[in-house]
Amino acid sequence: MSQNPLIPESKLPALGTTIFTQMSQLAQQHQAINLSQGFPDFDGPRYLQERLAFHVANGANQYAPMTGVQALREAIADKTAGLYGHKPDANTDITVTAGATEALYAAITALVRPGDEVICFDPSYDSYAPAVTLSGGVLKRIALQPPFFRVDWEEFATLLSPRTRLVILNTPHNPSATVWRKSDYAALWQAIKQHEVYVLSDEVYEHICFAEEGHASVLAHPQLRERAVAVSSFGKTFHMTGWKVGYCVAPAALSAELRKVHQYLTFAVNTPAQLAIADMLRAQPEHYRELPDFYRARRDRFVQALADSRFEILPCEGTYFLLADYSAISDLDDVSFCQWLTKEVGVAAIPLSVFCADPFPHKLIRLCFAKQEATLDAAAERLCKV
Ligand code: PMP
Ligand code: GLN
Repeated sequence: MSQNPLIPESKLPALGTTIFTQMSQLAQQHQAINLSQGFPDFDGPRYLQERLAFHVANGANQYAPMTGVQALREAIADKTAGLYGHKPDANTDITVTAGATEALYAAITALVRPGDEVICFDPSYDSYAPAVTLSGGVLKRIALQPPFFRVDWEEFATLLSPRTRLVILNTPHNPSATVWRKSDYAALWQAIKQHEVYVLSDEVYEHICFAEEGHASVLAHPQLRERAVAVSSFGKTFHMTGWKVGYCVAPAALSAELRKVHQYLTFAVNTPAQLAIADMLRAQPEHYRELPDFYRARRDRFVQALADSRFEILPCEGTYFLLADYSAISDLDDVSFCQWLTKEVGVAAIPLSVFCADPFPHKLIRLCFAKQEATLDAAAERLCKV
């Protein structure tokens, strides 16, 4: 029992405010160019905005169905079929959620029982671990190493145990900007096929992939998708992270379980945004098809602008993040360096060590290039001076 009855004993005692909130606040405080928290500084498509206004004006303002509006689930089913050669059932396999964050939480809560082991790959997105902890799960983290952050499948096999319940992966990967290959899924399948292990595949950057073989989705793997929850986010795809609409695709039996959680976590996602996104997916599929080119141009411009800096830029195969090594500039640890960079140089970035359980001695920061060209140019000019 907590000593002071007014202060509840924390279920997440080690957890503070997310690094994204911290760094965005610091950026604001020092009027720094904010390349930390991942969000665009430009608007989403005009058509999408118009459709939202249309549906609000036309009375689509009451609860949506718990699983998501039919038109959106059908549009997602068709998009998935076109991209990954597998058409999920719009009624039983697709659930619209309040951003990818809710889908991740619902999937973890539905699948992980007390004492179950969950394998994830560090650096890992910050919402996984607290959800696993709240479900009583035990996280087993595999530390991936820069610059390629590839999974060592032999090491993975040594972590599997009779208690392993779930593997959480993320491709394209935030924050390393690397992507999984088809061969990674083949190796994952070989490792887990004899066990009752599920897969949670965070694919929020599925449309921001620059790799030659394109985005490798778990949904394209015939066996793995039978035990996988694939998660996506329209916030990334349509440049409107504030709308908080995402979805997950999973076989009916898995979806039924995660819907039990979703039903009492949010019940349903806001109706007019869902209808607007359904219209957008049908009317302008070129938006997501052209997204790799759209972001590749920004990435290349930013990399070019940083060519004369003392930062060493790591390869970026996906996401709208770029890793920069600052070993030539400073001995500071990455958290201190990001604070210094924000206050003294006027550019906010994200340190990588906060995504890792083990000490992460590398001098790497994450820069978000989902910004207008003028913003990227101004940031690069400052970064070239350090
Ligand atoms: N997973 C990853 C890897 C992310 O980067 C993010 C947010 N940027 C999310 C999940 C959460 O997505 P959403 O904002 O749709 O909740
Ligand atoms: N996913 C975003 C990022 O990686 C941040 C989302 C958030 O602020 N929770 O920057």
